[in-house]
Amino acid sequence: MDTCILKVDWSDVGQQALEKAAKIIKDGGLVAFPTETVYGLGGDAKNSRSAKRIYRAKGRPSDNPLIVHIATISQLDEVAEDIPEYAEDLAEAFWPGPLTLILNKNRSVPRHTTGGLSTVAVRMPDNEIARELIIKSECLIAAPSANASGRPSPTTAEHVKADLNGRIDAIIDAGPCEVGVESTILDLTTDVPTILRPGMITKEMIEQVLGRVIIDASKSEEESDDKPKAPGMKYKHYAPKASLTIVEGRPARVASYINSQIREGNLLGLTTGIIASEENRKRYGGDFVKTIGSLEDEKEIAHNLYSTLREFDDLKVDRIYSESFDNLENADAIMNRLEKAAGHKVISADKVSISRIIFAGKNGSNRSPMAASILKTMKMDKNYEILSRGILVQFPEPLNPKIEAVLKSNGIEVEDYHAEQLKSEDITPTTIVFTMEESHRDRIIETIDRANEDNTFVLTKYVGNELEIPNPYGGSLQLYGLCFESIKETLNSLVNVLDQEG
Ligand code: AMP
Ligand code: MG
Repeated sequence: MDTCILKVDWSDVGQQALEKAAKIIKDGGLVAFPTETVYGLGGDAKNSRSAKRIYRAKGRPSDNPLIVHIATISQLDEVAEDIPEYAEDLAEAFWPGPLTLILNKNRSVPRHTTGGLSTVAVRMPDNEIARELIIKSECLIAAPSANASGRPSPTTAEHVKADLNGRIDAIIDAGPCEVGVESTILDLTTDVPTILRPGMITKEMIEQVLGRVIIDASKSEEESDDKPKAPGMKYKHYAPKASLTIVEGRPARVASYINSQIREGNLLGLTTGIIASEENRKRYGGDFVKTIGSLEDEKEIAHNLYSTLREFDDLKVDRIYSESFDNLENADAIMNRLEKAAGHKVISADKVSISRIIFAGKNGSNRSPMAASILKTMKMDKNYEILSRGILVQFPEPLNPKIEAVLKSNGIEVEDYHAEQLKSEDITPTTIVFTMEESHRDRIIETIDRANEDNTFVLTKYVGNELEIPNPYGGSLQLYGLCFESIKETLNSLVNVLDQEG
């Protein structure tokens, strides 16, 4: 089947293209059309063959019901019965707009349209072209989102084309959708009105009209055996081609975790896409960082969400990491989609805590084993693996005799120590490396693959001291003693920092 693209201009809704699209619907065909939320794939709501075609074109399971789109509030009566009075209050308050109401269906709506249910989903879109299409077709238009089943919803005609070209009769191209995420779904057939899918019309907004509203818990419990009330919820949704992981936590930690994944990916030959807020954009390295919008503007983030996911498909990245947006004022709609797109893979960067501490010095037989030995005697909240390494170890030198002597006079015995070369494999994702000198740190970051500015630090800087630990090499025993004191004091501060960070 050839899919024809019908360009329709916002300022000229009456043109021929729309007449043509309306006729296709009337004759039982399928037309993708813009709404303010996402593009819908529309067919005659009262023609069961149209509904079947929609399922086939999308590859959508036929028990996942469609939403009936109407052009005037009075058309509610054409599809629903036992309509509670407050449904009209809601319609007055939010229509046209991104709120879908679930009501008991009347006999004129075929079960194919409602996925076999006795209820029907209805909404009046806030898009003049969509409403004009409904009026001109002389039908009510049943439509799910116009994507292939499981894929991110389309917010441009190009997205629709990428998924459904050749599978539907026509696509009305009227530019990008304004809202960008699907409507809020509110079930009015339950005792207390229940939100089945969050959207840009929030619980608080609905409460101002209705009083009490609840959010269906099964929405977030994907694994539960209960039949979800909004049937589409049991299916995989919104997923980009590459696997997506959400990383939540403090911005610096999130960036540090994601950056370590980028580097790890580079070593494995994998490309990594990043979804970043405008505010944190600069924290990320790598070649595929996309800004989704400002943390001050959830509407912008919602608007860009699906197109950003699809951009990564075009870039063919191997995996995607996204910041979490759960601290936004109205995060529900965005996080609901993002979590589904990620198959609920969410990592807390704050919890990725350090398990190995490496002290690294030039040849690994002076200050670094001294620091490691001292830290091992200190009490800390958590157990760490504490190691000492050298940057340039020619042969496994034993401990410098003066270091050994000073440690011994402070009650610390070190047996059988031999310097070891620092290797990339030593640095796991939960390792932190400390050096005594800036030049050592730079050298390690430069020469060791897995070392970077997020896991390798000058010890004194890390705890907030300006002065570095003095180098006693070649000096008197007394100088080594001063070095011991200086390291010990710094490590006391380190213990405080690590205990706090957990
Ligand atoms: P889509 O616009 O592609 O997300 O598809 C419409 C969505 O509306 C479905 O996935 C369902 O979650 C929801 N829906 C439609 N009809 C009903 C209904 N009668 N009861 C509950 N949810 C519905
Ligand atoms: Mg959909």
